[in-house]
Amino acid sequence: MRIAVVGSGPAGMTAAYRLHQAGHAVEVLEACDVVGGRTHAERLGPGHHCDTGAGWLTSFYNHTLALFDELGYRDLLIRPRHVRGAADLRTGGRVYRAEPDGERAAYQLLSPEERRALAAYLERVYAEQPAGLTIDLAADDRDAEAEVAPLGSSVVDYVFRPWFEGPFFTPLNRMSAAKLRSWLKAYVGATFYQVAGGMDTPWLRLAERMEVRTSAPVHAVHLRRSGGVDLELPAGARSYAGVVLACPATAATRILGEQIADVLPWLGEVRYSPEVRVYAARPAAADAALGIHLMPAGLAVGTGVRLRPGQHRAAQTACRGGAPHPVGARARCRAGAVRA
Ligand SMILES: Cc1cc2nc3c(=O)[nH]c(=O)nc-3n(C[C@H](O)[C@H](O)[C@H](O)COP(=O)(O)OP(=O)(O)OC[C@H]3O[C@@H](n4cnc5c(N)ncnc54)[C@H](O)[C@@H]3O)c2cc1C
Repeated sequence: MRIAVVGSGPAGMTAAYRLHQAGHAVEVLEACDVVGGRTHAERLGPGHHCDTGAGWLTSFYNHTLALFDELGYRDLLIRPRHVRGAADLRTGGRVYRAEPDGERAAYQLLSPEERRALAAYLERVYAEQPAGLTIDLAADDRDAEAEVAPLGSSVVDYVFRPWFEGPFFTPLNRMSAAKLRSWLKAYVGATFYQVAGGMDTPWLRLAERMEVRTSAPVHAVHLRRSGGVDLELPAGARSYAGVVLACPATAATRILGEQIADVLPWLGEVRYSPEVRVYAARPAAADAALGIHLMPAGLAVGTGVRLRPGQHRAAQTACRGGAPHPVGARARCRAGAVRA
């Protein structure tokens, strides 16, 4: 069958690969001029790249790692010597690093009573929470802030906000308690990886084996009663036997229009964070094979990092070692596609 996949992020490229394996003729349609979606990396010169969305993978991403094994992409995973920035805490003029001993460093700010309460809470979560990243959404009736608030405001501000609001760009009161509990357990003993050459490298590699059209935004999907679908593209309508929507829910809602009522009514209610994060990675002078997260000082340390347009440019400049890079247009394209 001839199937269209809308979106070339990890979900779209994986779906396209599986459909291709199953013997279908697949065409990936991507709105931006690049493959990779929110894993997109900017190449800034030999050995330099900036991850502009996702920055790391972990040892508990079982499905992703299994796919990498299947595709022979394990070699892409590198263990950074330093992971800096997102979960660090800056307070009182001091930075309390999140890794590897940062959690304990921030504990200095807690009273003995608060430390005991935190230790007891963690012990309970580790005992109750199933192994792996298991989020019981059905049992999720409150937000993460309500979950940890009984431990006291110092524990919330010095431990949980940096741990969770930094990496996830989401205030605790907008995050589910089940997600917090699940990630707390999954973090124990986890390994964090970067992807050599940029987070989008696996998807760019996969795209070489598929038919992918970039700069091909799908404006609308019409489901035919008789079966099959018609897709509206800038160049005109195209017909397929089926379609996989692997674009953000907001875009899917827009292109499905009125038909959404028959599909998933809540899809249009999903909201995405408007924030942008820049991970800059370059070979370390002492060890050219090892990636390092470089968070430009003053931009990425702390919780809930928000890069304003000027800072975004400054981050690009910093990771390039001086020369600015015209990344703005592409970043705007991606943000536009996500928000659309
Ligand atoms: C700032 C940030 C940091 C993140 N950090 C991490 C991290 O460290 N580790 C991690 O694992 N995950 C991280 N994530 C999450 C990760 O990037 C996403 O989970 C992943 O990219 C989702 O993949 P996807 O294929 O579902 O969607 P996307 O990657 O968003 O891909 C969707 C694609 O659909 C395209 N599209 C949209 N509308 C249309 C249309 N109408 N027609 C055609 N194409 C369209 C978009 O242009 C895009 O390329 C982060 C995300 C962000 C934004």
